[in-house]
Amino acid sequence: MPRILKAPYVNAVVPPISVSSAYYFQDTEEFRRYKEGELAGGRYGRYDNPTWLEAQAQLALLEGAEAALIFPSGMSAVTNTVCALAQQGDSILYTGCAYRNLRTFFSEHMSRFGVHAHAIDQAHIEQFNAEFSRLYDPKTCSLVFIEMPSNPHMYLVDIDHVRSVIDPKRTKIVVDSTFASPENFQPLYHGADLVLHSCTKYLGGHGDFLAGCVCGDTGTIEKIQLYRNVSGAVSDGMSAFLLSRSLSSLPVRMAHFNKSGLEIATALEANPLVSRVYYTGLKSHPHAALAQKYLSGHGGVLSFELDCDKDEVMRFVDALEVPFMGTNFGSHHAMVEQCAEFTYYKLSDAERADIGITDTLVRMTIGLHDPALILDDIDRALKIAKSTPGVVPVKAAATSPRITRTGSMVGQFSI
Ligand code: PLP
Repeated sequence: MPRILKAPYVNAVVPPISVSSAYYFQDTEEFRRYKEGELAGGRYGRYDNPTWLEAQAQLALLEGAEAALIFPSGMSAVTNTVCALAQQGDSILYTGCAYRNLRTFFSEHMSRFGVHAHAIDQAHIEQFNAEFSRLYDPKTCSLVFIEMPSNPHMYLVDIDHVRSVIDPKRTKIVVDSTFASPENFQPLYHGADLVLHSCTKYLGGHGDFLAGCVCGDTGTIEKIQLYRNVSGAVSDGMSAFLLSRSLSSLPVRMAHFNKSGLEIATALEANPLVSRVYYTGLKSHPHAALAQKYLSGHGGVLSFELDCDKDEVMRFVDALEVPFMGTNFGSHHAMVEQCAEFTYYKLSDAERADIGITDTLVRMTIGLHDPALILDDIDRALKIAKSTPGVVPVKAAATSPRITRTGSMVGQFSI
């Protein structure tokens, strides 16, 4: 049955959002032309979507890649990429201080499919390099997976060293650079084969959807796409649109995060109640030299140790009035967590110690607020944390800061 071909308002500045599950053809002849590549268009919503294509083209451009794919979350970008490229009997080397679910995927799930993943702690560069050279087997190693900067300590890896050890015909270097964004780090330029992101974070930037992406050469991306067609890990048109919209403002948002992040990190380092700050923009970061080599900015997430006991840190987090207690980063919202009590509460003490998660470690994402607002809030909350419990009211239920935060958000942002 002939249908009307629609193309009104093709001159819209913002492209339309495609939510169609399917695409139609006028007749078998038209479909033949599609099959033979004479006609562009879609066939079915799990394979094609013009709104994805828009976001994918933007991502490829941002990373200097030939092609990109989007996924419904950062984790699905990781799992689809690894499953598409690893074979039974392969080995994978990955950075041990990495996002919790990445480690679970490698340590618990890949082994079920006969892929042996080995974690290498990247807190100490020399040790990492030595261990990497020792464990790398060109006969089996198909992937080196590097989270860089790592979550939450911002540890880095010398990609040049990794590149000098591997056989590039056998092994691909995959970098998860969610913590940096393409504004601050260009892994493909530095010798990685693929770069991944949780777009839920900086790239999405508004905390209102989940997405992931992988960028690289056309051949590898096509291979991952064939796997995505089967796994069904596809984004929806609305999320793809939101991502595309957000990417346009990424440079402005990252400029704010880089400037304010450094300002807050520097002030925290000078605070006597803060015993250590993990921020790659500071000279005190253990990987500051690598940061100079690989990063052009350091973003809006800071991890720091307080000179407090565990309960005082809890009181500090509870007393903060600007950030939400929660575990996202890279959006305009400020968020804070006592890492051991929030993201890592299911791990044993020994497991937490193994990856450097102490009871006094706090991770804060600064949002798009004026840094002075965040610093005042931290100073005030530290005073409360150090006061005698019960004497100073930490938080009155009727004036929950979380409610105030939501209500008074507008006008607090400096851009
Ligand atoms: N990679 C890193 C470095 C992360 O921090 C996260 C989540 O926090 C992910 C991947 C997973 O992303 P998503 O939550 O979008 O699945």
